[in-house]
Amino acid sequence: MKYRSTRGGLPPAPFTEILIEGLAPDGGLVVPETVPTVTPDELEAWRELDYAGLAAEVIGRYASGLSAEALADICRAAYAPEVFGGEPIVPLTPLGEVTLVGLSEGPTLAFKDMAMQFLGQLLEHELTERGTTLNILGATSGDTGSAAEYALRGKHGVAVFMLSPQGRMSAFQRAQMYSLTDENIHNIAVEGDFDDCQHLVKVLAGDTAFKREHRLGAVNSINFARIAAQLVYYFWAWLRHSDAVEPAERAGHRVSITVPSGNFGNIFSGWLARRMGLPLHRLVLATNENNVLDEFFRTGVYRPRTGEATFATSSPSMDISRASNLERFVFEVLGRDPEALREHWAGLERDGVLDLSAEQHRFAAEFGIVSGASSHAERVETIRETHRATGVVVDPHTADGLAVAARHLEPGIPMLVLETAKPQKFPEIVAEAIGAPAELPAELRELLEAPQHVVDVPNDAVAVRNLIEAHAAH
Ligand SMILES: *Cc1c(COP(=O)(O)O)cnc(C)c1O
Repeated sequence: MKYRSTRGGLPPAPFTEILIEGLAPDGGLVVPETVPTVTPDELEAWRELDYAGLAAEVIGRYASGLSAEALADICRAAYAPEVFGGEPIVPLTPLGEVTLVGLSEGPTLAFKDMAMQFLGQLLEHELTERGTTLNILGATSGDTGSAAEYALRGKHGVAVFMLSPQGRMSAFQRAQMYSLTDENIHNIAVEGDFDDCQHLVKVLAGDTAFKREHRLGAVNSINFARIAAQLVYYFWAWLRHSDAVEPAERAGHRVSITVPSGNFGNIFSGWLARRMGLPLHRLVLATNENNVLDEFFRTGVYRPRTGEATFATSSPSMDISRASNLERFVFEVLGRDPEALREHWAGLERDGVLDLSAEQHRFAAEFGIVSGASSHAERVETIRETHRATGVVVDPHTADGLAVAARHLEPGIPMLVLETAKPQKFPEIVAEAIGAPAELPAELRELLEAPQHVVDVPNDAVAVRNLIEAHAAH
């Protein structure tokens, strides 16, 4: 399996060569040259595996350059019961008419742990193999940064420099990141907003000499290793849901899955799983008030918005108006033609619009993707009603998913909804919905009290550069 760029400018490279960036040198995104398929018999043979075993099989279809033994060890370490609070790593919970797929059992209580724990183990393995080091520079408004830090804390050969906007993260998010005491984790609070943080990353990573000297890398959502790791729970969810189905009927068992979406990373993995042969009927893309992707899937017209035109909502991890992974989907719609992709992207950069309305009829029929958007009022109502009917408290992102899923139920087709975070991370909206925040286990209460380690800096690239120079892994 080799990887190339959506824009055609990357010589074919194995998986182990494309781990650090996701972005190809020509500005395109890294994609596999072909999509491997899984037969119904192979799928049945995977039914016996535990989560780590399944991960090694699924990711193994993509992980060129890595031995099967190494991959199996990496998956065992990443998806260990100690990391995910016991087995099963991904629990399925019936919730009225739908089934919740629990992706938030990891250390940061959000689904990004699912891919980041794998990437952390994989990076340590690769850096050790090559006898080299890596400095991860990133910007976060919450979930990504903490998932990266928990995945890379204490790992050999890696340091993390994570920029966050001063005073803009929740108390819980701050506690989660800033309480880490590992020497290779550097929290940097920037006097500015998330866009300022992202800009600083761009400036520093854009300085080629500095980037090379300090081996700067990223672990953001366009990273293909994360996409590959996210495939696993789609297979797992289908396998566990079909355990109850008569063996003779399993091959024809189709389910739909709703995905709370922002950067189109999670649902792109779902589409890839479907393309590999997993019997998924519909993938339902759920957004909040920042409904750029919903508009795209309903009309075929993609109109990304600026940071200023993005609403700050009560499901903040989906406050995204430029979906960094969408190029991978557009590449598929355009028949994997890099030249057509380049033309469309040039048009998008020129006019701010990408018009695929002539292809929109294929989005559901061929790609299986439909969409919907939810609002603050719907989230509150969904959290309240779910709690009343089932006793389960869901987080606002999962509530967006549940609200949109309810509009896409079809007779005879079970609906699964991905739970992307735990409600403890979002006490305000939970309290608004059910009168009190979700209960905090003792270790999380302690976390909120723990001393915090963070360096405040002005919105200035030189200040960040100095910190990297002083603390980089070498
Ligand atoms: C990141 C995130 C999302 C969005 O996932 P994408 O892969 O960016 O579409 C949804 N919910 C939560 C809680 C997240 O942290």
